[in-house]
Amino acid sequence: MIQTPVYLDYNATTPCHPDVVAAMLPFFTNWYGNAASNNHSYGWQAAEGVAIAREQVAALINASAEEIVFTSGATEAINLAIKGVYEAYAFKGNHIITVATEHKAVLDTCKHLEKKGAVVTYLPVQADGLIDITQLKESITPATILIAVLFANNETGVVQNVAAIGKIAKEKEVLFFCDGVQAAGKIKTDVQEAGIDLLALSAHKVYGPKGVGALYVRRKNPRVKLIAQIDGGGHEKGMRSGTLNVPAIAGMGKACAIALNEMVPAAERMGLLRNKLENTILLGLNDCVVNGNTVGRLPHVSNISFKGLEGGRLLNRLVSYAAVSSGAACTSALPKASHVLKAMGVEDGLAKASLRFSVGWFTTTAEVNFVAEKVIALVKELRGGDDDKSIRQ
Ligand SMILES: *Cc1c(COP(=O)(O)O)cnc(C)c1O
Repeated sequence: MIQTPVYLDYNATTPCHPDVVAAMLPFFTNWYGNAASNNHSYGWQAAEGVAIAREQVAALINASAEEIVFTSGATEAINLAIKGVYEAYAFKGNHIITVATEHKAVLDTCKHLEKKGAVVTYLPVQADGLIDITQLKESITPATILIAVLFANNETGVVQNVAAIGKIAKEKEVLFFCDGVQAAGKIKTDVQEAGIDLLALSAHKVYGPKGVGALYVRRKNPRVKLIAQIDGGGHEKGMRSGTLNVPAIAGMGKACAIALNEMVPAAERMGLLRNKLENTILLGLNDCVVNGNTVGRLPHVSNISFKGLEGGRLLNRLVSYAAVSSGAACTSALPKASHVLKAMGVEDGLAKASLRFSVGWFTTTAEVNFVAEKVIALVKELRGGDDDKSIRQ
């Protein structure tokens, strides 16, 4: 028996792994000390929990523990990285290079800095979602202080060639910030190999709790400087003040440790499920397009456009069977075309008629088969029915 709606929105958030919950619980009730209270055992226990978590998070990305700054999530980590570098390196320049298909946390932070005098280059992407590395190289000026590129796209699963970007950044002595939220714990994310100087992470995308994340800040070759965005007691080496959320941090550490162990077999399992879902839909329906480069794509994501459908209608009809996403933030009843798909050249109407499926560690074959069948039946019905035509102008 499968439980409906089937959850296929693991890129939006994941359930907490039961072992993560177990790792968090004692820090709520027994070991409730403040990690900054260094004059009694309650504080020491909390600090010990944070120290273990810091090692676990660092191990997932091949960093060292002192390079990890805990935050309230990836959005805050992204703000700290981009604004913190902008302010710390103002003496050097004011130019930032990023990409049109970044997460809104990056794009909106860049927009904010533009009002403060930053010059931002938004690199376009090719139809496959990848940036042109030569174009990136040519965009670097003497005023460039930061390159900000998303490791793996949350809407399409497209993975950029981060190692090539890191190499260019090193050559040109420009810092490389990477939003690694969807990559870490899913595919190999090695800050040394990829030459990443700053990396944003979020616990709730890797079977950890919501409201906690981290920023990796390189400490040598080069030693990255940041201006704190939250001032207070000087926690986290002065980079992020505020009493540490010890239970959540312990949970994030545990989630990273599990991910490090499980990543390879999980990717294999999820890849089979995703391919099964995608292939069944493509075989069962005409005029469907998989968006983005499928080489090296995240193993659990599929973004499909359904030609001849009114945007949002499929999602509405699917809602009792499957929890999926249109890939775009739905702030109104009318679906907005995804900025990611538009940047890839997908025409507006088709972008609105696209769905993002993301499977996870707990997805089953039966669930995937069920959703594929429902999608095929509903698309056929919507394409064929008078219903669909009546709403089209
Ligand atoms: C979810 C997500 C974020 C934001 O993370 P939060 O921890 O929810 O703030 C940033 N970037 C990407 C790619 C994401 O998928």
